[in-house]
This record gives sequence, C-alpha cells and structure tokens, in this order.
Amino acid sequence: MTILDTRTPIPDYFIAGATGDWEMVIGLEVHAQVTSRSKLFSASSTQFGEPPNANVSFIDAAMPGMLPVINEECVHQAIRTGLGLKAKINTRSLFDRKNYFYPDLPQGYQISQFKDPIVGEGEVHLDMGEKIGIVTVGIERLHLEQDAGKSIHDLDPSMSFVDLNRSGVALMEIVSKPDIRSSAEARAYITKLRTILRYLGTCDGNMEQGSLRADINVSVRRPGGEFGTRCEIKNVNSVRFAGQAIEYEARRQIDILEDGGEVIQQTRLFDPKSGETRAMRSKEEAHDYRYFPDPDLLPLEFDQALVDRLAADLPELPDEKQARLIRDYGITTYDASVLVADRASADFYESVAKGRDGKLAANWVINDLFGRLAKEGLDVTNSPVSAEQLGRIIDLIVGGDISGKIAKELFEIVWSEGGDPAEIVESRGMKQVSDTGAIEKIVDEIIAANPEQAAKVKDKPSMIGWFVGQVMKASQGKANPKAVNEILRAKLGL
Ligand code: ADP
Ligand code: MG
Repeated sequence: MTILDTRTPIPDYFIAGATGDWEMVIGLEVHAQVTSRSKLFSASSTQFGEPPNANVSFIDAAMPGMLPVINEECVHQAIRTGLGLKAKINTRSLFDRKNYFYPDLPQGYQISQFKDPIVGEGEVHLDMGEKIGIVTVGIERLHLEQDAGKSIHDLDPSMSFVDLNRSGVALMEIVSKPDIRSSAEARAYITKLRTILRYLGTCDGNMEQGSLRADINVSVRRPGGEFGTRCEIKNVNSVRFAGQAIEYEARRQIDILEDGGEVIQQTRLFDPKSGETRAMRSKEEAHDYRYFPDPDLLPLEFDQALVDRLAADLPELPDEKQARLIRDYGITTYDASVLVADRASADFYESVAKGRDGKLAANWVINDLFGRLAKEGLDVTNSPVSAEQLGRIIDLIVGGDISGKIAKELFEIVWSEGGDPAEIVESRGMKQVSDTGAIEKIVDEIIAANPEQAAKVKDKPSMIGWFVGQVMKASQGKANPKAVNEILRAKLGL
C-alpha cells in the first residue's frame, strides 16, 4: 500500500540528531467504548464498576450454540460518530472473526470488521496555534468490534482470574492516517477526538476508566523523506502518557538509526513509571489472525434514509460552534477554543453572553469563573455561581452600578453565599458613587489634606494617578473612576 504524504514538514517539529534532523510520523488507532446500555451482540449491561462477572450472558461467555444479535443502538452510534468525523458512511459492511487465543477471550476470536468497515475516510482538524495553524488529520476508517474481558493476576500469587464484564462491550476503532508529525499534534488529536465523541454522546471519553485508549504507531524519517519502519505502542490511556511515549519512542528509534542499526517493527508497551517503552511482541500481521466473515452474522445493511435522519439530529460540533461563537459574539479564536472544549462550558458561556457584551462575558467566564473553578477542582456543571447570576453581575458593571473592582468582590460574595447580585449591591451599599457632589466632597478633602502634592502636580501631571488612588481608597472603591478623574483635573487646574 502506498501512503500519500499530504503534509509539508514543519521545522519546529524537527528533532536534532547527531547526523542531522529527523521528523516523526505518527498514526493512531483509538478504541472508543460506545455509549450504549447493552453490549454489541447481547443484552448484558455495560455498567462500569459492577462486581466481577455480574454483566455476563451466555453470549458474552461464548457458550456453545449461542448466536450474536446486533444491537441497533451501537450501529446508530457508529454512524453518528462517522458523521461527526465528516466521514463516508458505508450502508453495507461486514463482520469478521479475528482469531486469537487469550484466557479473557472465551470465543477464541473477536468479532470485528476488517475489509468492509461501517465508516470509511474522514477527517479531524487540529488548531495548533497561530504559528502552525490548522492541521488536518485524515481518518482511514472506523469499525465496530467487541471488547475482550480482563485477566487479573494480582489477587493471588498462584492463581489468575478472569472478569468478563467487558467481554462483548461495543468498541469503535478509529484509525487515523499517518498524518501526525509531533507529540503535540498527537495530544491535540486525542483531545479533539474525545471532544467530538463527547459532543456526539457516542463515547464518554473517560480515559481513566478505559473508555478511550490509543494504540500509537511511531516512526521517524528524514524531514519529508520516505516513511520509516514503525513501532506500535499499545493501550495508552492518558493524553499526557501519549506525549511522553511518543517522545521516548522517537528518540529510541533515532538512536538506533544513527548507530547504523535498523528499527524492528514491534508492538511495545509504555511504562509510565520509567517513562520508557519496551518490547512486548513482534508485530503480528493480518494473516496471523485468519480473518474471515462471521457466519453467524448477516452483512450489516441499512438505508441512506437512516443516515440522513441521524445526520439531521446531530448536535452542533466543536468546530462549527467555535466559528459561530466568534461570529456572533465577536470573541477571539483562542477564547472560543477554550469555550468549546466541552459542551457544558460553551452552553454556560452562551447563557451568560446572550444579549450582552460577548467579549466582557468571555473574560468573566474564562478568567474569573473558570479560573476559580479550576482552583477549587470544580467544573462548570457544579459551579456555585450560575450563568444567570454571572450575567447579572455583568449587567451591573455595564449599567455603571458597580466598578470592575467591586464586581470582583461581588463575584466572591455570590460564589460563597449565593443570592441575587443586584440585591447584594443594594443591601451592602456597594453601589458605585457617580453623584458628582459626593465625589467633589472627597476630592476637596484629599486636596486639602495633601497641599504639597497638590502644588507639585501642576509640574508633574502624571501624579494625578496618586490622587485618583487616594480618592478611590477614601470611597472604598465605590467612586466612579471616570468622574473622579474629571473632577480632580478640574480642581487641580490640569
Ligand atoms: P495494522 O492494522 O497492521 O496496525 P495499518 O496499516 O492499519 O496497520 O496502520 C495502523 C496505523 O499505523 C494507522 O493509524 C496508520 O496511520 C499508522 N501507520 C502506518 N504506517 C506508518 C508509519 N510508517 N509510521 C507511523 N505510523 C504509521
Ligand atoms: Mg494496528
């Protein structure tokens, strides 16, 4: 198979070796657990965290004579995901048996899709920042397959156990083209894919629970040159580990090549403790699995009408949402990217920003609210300050009722005590003083108390800042700064 290289080498990504520069080539196979109440071919529950072997039917345990029946919802989820990846949906696909032995695989084969997957080519866009821009990573395919069970070796020194709760759970394997060129891009790709899946509601993206895991193929080459031999790092379950594993693996391959050696195609494991990858087994080939069509299952066929119906019901996806937020609310690309990182954040922002100054709303949501939430380990879904309350705080600023500084205090009060922001401002006397008479009185007092400074300010007009500070302090931050400035200038003869 010849692989088309669609990327122009980016010098920022080059790795300096003893003999010159190198470039990474990376392709990912991501396993995403389908969000569905029951398994791919049985009615067993997919509930996480149940006692071992609680969710196991005769089909999942591969009892002789059992017949798999496809779960319609899992098919719909795969189609939705394909649509979200702008991919070709194949209205006819086939299930194959991938044969291998493992104690946690009682069937002796995994039902998967090989030659004819349910989803074909698509793409994912990564925003790599101002300098590098938007990078497109091609999707090769997405297919449905069963998960295996789990062997447990650490409960007893002389026995191993098998938990089949996972056996038969539906997975989507999403295979990228070898279009990724750095560990930063690989991390961005996993993150973006997870965001898209979560928006679609087709996978919860929970990497700690194993709902999303990546097999990472890494090779190195001279910039823009021929692809090198790759190694595959299995089952990486965190974005950070993915970055570390790639950096280590690329360096390992470069050292081998610069020593005059050859990279051996291998399956490797990443050890987060040492930060290293180590060999697990030599690479298996497709023929080792003796794939063949599963005689228990008919070809999977559906009408284009089903695809169209699911497409019509698709939620707005992150890229589209980002473009719309920039357009409708006039916020920066960066702010929009922060807001669309998850759907709840974007929704929260929109409830605050609707009918208000979009930029001011973005500042408050991202800097004040998200900053505070992160500090407390909370997320936007359990924010002590609601979108409505934050919107009211912004209204009070824009309406000239409170200064930006008082608004921060008000935010703190609403955060810890709750309540209606306008009432708090009223009852605690936090209202900004715009009444010129009251401000004039304070200004007169300050000038009278500081005759030396008042004399000097004519020669050194920048000293007015000091006076503004004094007046603001005397008014406990409540004086309208604009009015203070004007009155001071008039009274000091500036
Ligand atoms: P297999 O099924 O044997 O693992 P595939 O051709 O399906 O092989 O490729 C698996 C993954 O490896 C894909 O994500 C692909 O992009 C990636 N890949 C292919 N060639 C290379 C390469 N030279 N370097 C890095 N990744 C590669
Ligand atoms: Mg593979």
